[in-house]
Amino acid sequence: MTASAAAPARKRLFIRTWGCQMNVYDSTRMADVLAPLGYAPAEAPEAADMVILNTCHIREKAAEKLFSELGRLREMKRERESAGAGMVLAVAGCVAQAEGAEITRRAPWVDIVLGPQTYHRLPEMVARAARAGGAVIETEMPVEQKFDHLPEQAAPPGITAFLTVQEGCDKFCSFCVVPYTRGAEYSRPASAVLAEARRLVAAGAREITLLGQNVNAYHGEAADGGTWGLARLLRELAEIPGLLRLRYTTSHPRDMDEALIAAHRDIPTLLPWLHLPVQSGSDRVLAAMNRGHKAADFLRIVERLRAARPDIALSSDFIAGHPGESREDFAATLALVREVGFAASYSFKYSSRPGTPAAGAPQQVPEAEKDARLQELQALLREQQDAFNRSRAGMVVPVLLTGPGRHPGQVMGRSPWLQPVHLQADAALVGQEVQVRILAAHPNSLSGVLVSGEAASHILSAEEPAPA
Ligand code: SF4
Repeated sequence: MTASAAAPARKRLFIRTWGCQMNVYDSTRMADVLAPLGYAPAEAPEAADMVILNTCHIREKAAEKLFSELGRLREMKRERESAGAGMVLAVAGCVAQAEGAEITRRAPWVDIVLGPQTYHRLPEMVARAARAGGAVIETEMPVEQKFDHLPEQAAPPGITAFLTVQEGCDKFCSFCVVPYTRGAEYSRPASAVLAEARRLVAAGAREITLLGQNVNAYHGEAADGGTWGLARLLRELAEIPGLLRLRYTTSHPRDMDEALIAAHRDIPTLLPWLHLPVQSGSDRVLAAMNRGHKAADFLRIVERLRAARPDIALSSDFIAGHPGESREDFAATLALVREVGFAASYSFKYSSRPGTPAAGAPQQVPEAEKDARLQELQALLREQQDAFNRSRAGMVVPVLLTGPGRHPGQVMGRSPWLQPVHLQADAALVGQEVQVRILAAHPNSLSGVLVSGEAASHILSAEEPAPA
């Protein structure tokens, strides 16, 4: 733009995000792409010139929920139009990818439907929608990689930030739509990841979570012409001055290699926390799910991780009632949960996703039985989570202070195990990692007192109990 060119008119953008952290990251990148067109955040859809629904296909009845939300937005769009304003309505994310033109057939008031690999082309789509006055649908998976075409992150990150390093999946689990909606595995070049991480840290981020649907399958091109795995990438990221903490999610047991386990032993800034979905404890069900590993493989990985990093805690994903799962198979899942002891978990009853192999499989488990199994599983997982949280009481742990708390003089932070921590402290300490003695565990958070304002050492107190 020349010095004399007018700044773009100020417009408001509202993005509703469903689903995983990758969708949260994608939403921030869509806002970055639209910022040069003059779009700034809106508080509510009613006040927005553009609304994007960033959808998730993992949700049960995801498409139906989308169409009911679109019904509400149709009314808002009409009201704005009768008041002389407009509203560009876009549907993004995995439901957009899966449903494509079906969205505009059922909801012709939608202007743009875009798949997850096309966000960098949003400004052009907005212009085309305005010119054509009809819907723009972009759901192909272009060979050009969107990361090469996205601008640098515009919005300053918080103390904690996400950074997508890998997308897509080639594993084709029986129940999952990701390989169909996000496409084949792709890893960003290591230099691009390092550059983005340095920018995030320069803008104030102190903890970075690397994201990918199969993040530990990362195999990024390196400047020396070689290929780096996730372990090497983590080692390089750990060298960035000012970056206090690293995490990564979501991992697959098949890609949990020796180098990555050694990284947990060697990198102090790599937090002692791992989300490692197992889905089932039954070999028969794991095979039906096409997971490519057995229950014993998972247990061996856990053992090696705990040997490498004794304070590591694990979370996982579980599906209750996958087609063909018998009571004995489900009992094997409960046995695996008891053997491992998880600090947190996500569990769902199986629900079919159109187009996936399990959707058409015989031996669907009756709904009532799925409900009963899920409740039993969740009761056990909740018990383990509570026990893990209680086990922190009395420990001195490093807490990264992330912002003010709800009460005067209170600040909020995060333990190494993703637990929110409340304490009384000077707000000037936000952004630092401090030592906190945990006094009490609540259902979803911890509270404690500051032990010292000095930077935490990452070495846990000698009072550290064994992992749950
Ligand atoms: S590995 Fe994960 S993302 Fe890939 S198909 Fe399986 S569940 Fe989906």
